[in-house]
Amino acid sequence: MNSCLEYQNTLAEETLFHGVGLHSGAKISVRLKPARPNSGILFRRVDIPGQPMIEARHHHVVDTRFATTIGNNGTLVSTIEHLMAAFWGAGIDNAIVELDGSEVPILDGSAAPYLDVLNRAGISMQTVLRKYLRVQRTVLVREGDAYIKATPADRFSVCYRIDFPHPLVGQQEFVYEYNRASFQREIAHARTFGFLKDVEKLQSMGLARGGSLDNALVFDDYRVLNQEGFRYSDECVRHKILDLLGDLSLAGMPVTGHFEVHKAGHSLHNRFLRELFDRPGAYGVCQAVAVQVPFFPHASMPAPAFPERFQPAGHPL
Ligand SMILES: [Zn+2]
Repeated sequence: MNSCLEYQNTLAEETLFHGVGLHSGAKISVRLKPARPNSGILFRRVDIPGQPMIEARHHHVVDTRFATTIGNNGTLVSTIEHLMAAFWGAGIDNAIVELDGSEVPILDGSAAPYLDVLNRAGISMQTVLRKYLRVQRTVLVREGDAYIKATPADRFSVCYRIDFPHPLVGQQEFVYEYNRASFQREIAHARTFGFLKDVEKLQSMGLARGGSLDNALVFDDYRVLNQEGFRYSDECVRHKILDLLGDLSLAGMPVTGHFEVHKAGHSLHNRFLRELFDRPGAYGVCQAVAVQVPFFPHASMPAPAFPERFQPAGHPL
């Protein structure tokens, strides 16, 4: 194995994409721009006078009920988690996300279309070493029977378990160790999911207005309604890992540690980071000086692989 210095990355050039907000139903345009080293991911609302900026950090999270929403001085940007997961997945540390509305477009409900956008823009290596947030001591946060337990490790890995009382979901567990290729292959394509009765309730509350079978996996009491079926047989738990990566990236840098997660969601993901930062000695910031895998531009990675355990198109029942 080669060792090499691991530097921060930004986008090689600006890029633009459009789509619909899952909850607002509004059409939104997003421009992604390169940013200087150590700036992290910054969201800028170009539709508001003065174009206010919000740093994508855990302490700016103001709502976690149906998505992760950040806010600062009354300016909000919601449903940031899948795009944030794509930045981590692609190894991008610094970028500016300009949008003309309050919600990141949902696209197909997974992180895969964002990865395509990032690949199109290309990745540019910067001259400053990457930093990692390392879990240094065991940290456990609980909410009812849900919990997140993190223990020190040199890389990021997770064992995520969910339990939904539905014949096609039930108990699912997935063990995942992060690297760029495994993110693209095992996690990026997993779509957000919901249950028809909840969707109807959300829509009566003015939410999920942009929700459709094009951007979410939707279940009625017995079946999955999307004609193409699942992308992975355990797509739901993999999507929860996608959400976890997006939410943990609000640490401001990639996180290392082994995570054991049981029935969590955006709220507990965020509480974990808040408690981690509140506990002296529970974390350390380390600079990447040597890694086992040398830097490869993302563009030179193999084309998106057909996800493992991808089910053939067609209704699962
Ligand atoms: Zn999600």
